[in-house]
Amino acid sequence: MKIPKKEEEWKKKLSPQQYKILRERGTEMAFTGAYWKNKEKGMYVCAGCGAELFSSENKFESGTGWPSFWEAVDKKNIELKEDNELGMRRIEVVCKKCGGHLGHVFDDAPQTPSGKRYCINSCALEFKKK
Ligand SMILES: [Zn+2]
Repeated sequence: MKIPKKEEEWKKKLSPQQYKILRERGTEMAFTGAYWKNKEKGMYVCAGCGAELFSSENKFESGTGWPSFWEAVDKKNIELKEDNELGMRRIEVVCKKCGGHLGHVFDDAPQTPSGKRYCINSCALEFKKK
């Protein structure tokens, strides 16, 4: 997949909602996305560039209304950035390949093997069923 260089190209490539999340670091409303309760087996790829980001094998039910994973498929495919917006210290999760905003990662999932909760917007993802 070709990665746009200009914002204008991104606007053409993505839906308005995808653009808002991936390029303007937006957040979809809880319980509205396509994948928060998806239990099918498969791979979640970046809606911007197709990079493999998260697997259904690492997905869990967090009750938050966003797709939640305890681990990325490959840490090389994501980038973690400190985000101090809104007076909160959070860790932003970004697609390494295209720079798209995916969501945030929190240390509040003791029920998972890693203790982490990658809280990812459905709009930033595309699901490839196995
Ligand atoms: Zn991407």
